[in-house]
Amino acid sequence: ASSGEIAFRAGVKPRANTRKAGEDVVQGNVILQQGQRLGPAELALASATGLGAVTVFERLRVGVLSTGDELVEPGEVAGAGQIYDANRVMLLGLVAEMGFVPVDLGRVGDRRETLRQRLNEAAKLADVILTSGGASNGDEDHMSALLREAGAMQEWRIAVKPGRPLALGMWDGTPVFGLPGNPVAALVCTLVFARPAMGVLAGREWQVPQGYLLPAAFEKNKKAGRREFLRARVRDGAVEVFASEGSGRISGLSWADGLVELPDGALNVTRGTEVRYIPYSSFL
Ligand code: AMP
Ligand code: MG
Repeated sequence: ASSGEIAFRAGVKPRANTRKAGEDVVQGNVILQQGQRLGPAELALASATGLGAVTVFERLRVGVLSTGDELVEPGEVAGAGQIYDANRVMLLGLVAEMGFVPVDLGRVGDRRETLRQRLNEAAKLADVILTSGGASNGDEDHMSALLREAGAMQEWRIAVKPGRPLALGMWDGTPVFGLPGNPVAALVCTLVFARPAMGVLAGREWQVPQGYLLPAAFEKNKKAGRREFLRARVRDGAVEVFASEGSGRISGLSWADGLVELPDGALNVTRGTEVRYIPYSSFL
């Protein structure tokens, strides 16, 4: 077109690319449910309707305590027979990712009175307590012993791998998850058992993590009698699992992007068998 003229390409219709007031949500619609977690999208929705303030639950404070004489602090020197405390930083990070307030309760040795005192303090500082180690019923398993002594104790010999034992109890009115010491088991038990319960305590509804049926890129002959969670990741549309199922193999947690959940019954997985993959993010 020459100067002073505008050319319109064909196809422009009156009112194209306009947005009608109320086309998304109508006045009177419920846009957010009680108990719904407010992420960036929910805050945008609230803001778009003009809401400048919403009433929320206080954030759940989750205490994390490591137990075991063998543990030393990362950055220090580990002597013979000692290992670094890996669970505490892992669980504190996980709690933060879940949107709760992590409360570092430190580390205690295998002494029952020290542990008792720490739990007394912890119950005042936190709404939920996650401990790791000492959850079996051996002589040095003071976590389960103390919870049993306190009365309100449910010992779960859960048919889950990795998992057992899990000591659940109340300490001075505060729920305690006595997680296994093995880092892989501690993580899996936190995701599978503690996460949904903490969600409810935080004001949410019980959440079942979203899983996806995908073809296996591995083979495994699974026996009947327990559910198994494997460290897994998706590559090229298929699920790979970590080479070792060892419960102390922390590198596999980092290698993985999620878990594969294999059902309680016997199962022969071959390449292409559909398995349930749950990304870590589904647990958050
Ligand atoms: P326990 O449940 O106390 O018998 O611990 C089981 C295994 O997990 C042992 O090999 C412990 O040394 C190990 N373990 C316990 N707590 C931790 C931790 N905080 N970090 C790394 N490994 C741990
Ligand atoms: Mg121990």
